[in-house]
Amino acid sequence: MPSVFIKTYGCQMNERDSEAVAAQLVAKGYTLAPTEAVADVVLLNTCSVRDFAEKKAIGKMQNIAADVRKNRPNVVLGFMCCMAQSRGQELIDKLPDVDLVLGTQKFHHAADYLDEILAGHRDKIVDVAAEPGSEATIREHLLYGKVARNGDGHKPPLQITAYVSIMQGCNQRCTFCIVPDTRGEERSRSIADIVAECRQLVSQGVKEITLLGQIVTSYGKRGVGRAELPLGRDAQQRVPTTEKSPFVQLLEAVHEIEGLERIRFTSPHPKGYGDDLIEAYARLPKLVESAHLPVQSGSDRVLKLMHRGYTRERFLGLIKKLRRARPDIGITTDIIVGFPGETEDDFEQTLSLAREVGFDNAYLFKYSPRRDTPAAGMPDQVPLKIREERNHRLLETINEIGKRKYDAFVGRRTQILVEGPSRKNPARMTGRTRCNRIVVFEGSERHRGQLLDVKITRAGSFTLYGDPAIVNL
Ligand code: SAM
Repeated sequence: MPSVFIKTYGCQMNERDSEAVAAQLVAKGYTLAPTEAVADVVLLNTCSVRDFAEKKAIGKMQNIAADVRKNRPNVVLGFMCCMAQSRGQELIDKLPDVDLVLGTQKFHHAADYLDEILAGHRDKIVDVAAEPGSEATIREHLLYGKVARNGDGHKPPLQITAYVSIMQGCNQRCTFCIVPDTRGEERSRSIADIVAECRQLVSQGVKEITLLGQIVTSYGKRGVGRAELPLGRDAQQRVPTTEKSPFVQLLEAVHEIEGLERIRFTSPHPKGYGDDLIEAYARLPKLVESAHLPVQSGSDRVLKLMHRGYTRERFLGLIKKLRRARPDIGITTDIIVGFPGETEDDFEQTLSLAREVGFDNAYLFKYSPRRDTPAAGMPDQVPLKIREERNHRLLETINEIGKRKYDAFVGRRTQILVEGPSRKNPARMTGRTRCNRIVVFEGSERHRGQLLDVKITRAGSFTLYGDPAIVNL
């Protein structure tokens, strides 16, 4: 059977989509190639959020195509996900060696399309049409490692954490964002379906699940009335008449799964943090003390231009409420610098917001104009040099806050869930605290999957180092 290599650009949603496609192909008998250089099929899972990500994927494909043309003409090349969706046929016109362009609602057809191309029944396939129900098709997992088995019959060790896709699409229409175009309208899976997938994962040894979507706090809200909450038919009769949002109902249902230790979710919208969700943090012990709240800017003027639907004050109010519910909560964010019209004063407000909140970490993005988004046509685009300079200043601030926060952990005892060997130094093991900090420690495979108390001995840059604590002596 052919081997496949999938390279992923972009967010956790893209990672999850790649995993589901790889799992479908493995189930059909494909093997996973360790690099593109030895694969029979190379798929690039692309991101469109910034121009840089698109350019990177196109450059990568150009290099692979040149090599394939010269040395291995039978290799099948494909683009999948966001850039495939937004550019479609244009990608094959630009790169004629590409055989497959697979849109964001079409991942479940990957195996069939590749079979047809490999068998010579079809030459090129471009499929970027909308497909009702596709949100429920991202469900297969590769729980035993994402690398090729080496043929010695040795099964790679089990993955302890898993992502579960709960919805697709986004209806927010933030003025900078291309996602509503690449991922389509919000479409949610049923609670019953999601819970069944989570149960299956837990029965296989998974201890922590991250619920995934472009905008998870909007789960189940669009186009469905109360009676039509996205629950399975069985569960529908049991829906309590409650004011809880569908997302909180989902959290409660997943929380009931025996054997599941931790629940996370990403990416939410600050607008979606209603009192019911904050109250869920206080009430559901498996929901860990960690929240990612993409703030984007600290200036009300810019937030309005971005179409975010909250103010700085409301955002700060949410942080206060979350910290009241869970004092140890780890808070991370996304921030865009250099949005059109952002003045030095607006940027200073972002710096001051970062200090006031004390984010544990932040993903910083230099504003990138995306085609067909309102912000791309706004006046006063900020020159790249200024965007870079602001990015640098904000990064320094975030690092400085992060260092203080991480240093404060030294000497403390904390619980981690052990995930496996550290990527940087496989002789050590790594785990995560409930508030999502990585902890590296001297351990062994027998610790994998354990909830372990460690004493933090040292703090590095966004990493903690720990010693397993001897408890209850
Ligand atoms: N749930 C998130 C939210 O509340 O906006 C959306 C996740 S989005 C796919 C990931 C991040 O990419 C955004 O939070 C934003 O910071 C960044 N991003 C999106 N469009 C961008 C653009 N045109 N330029 C720079 N960064 C962008």
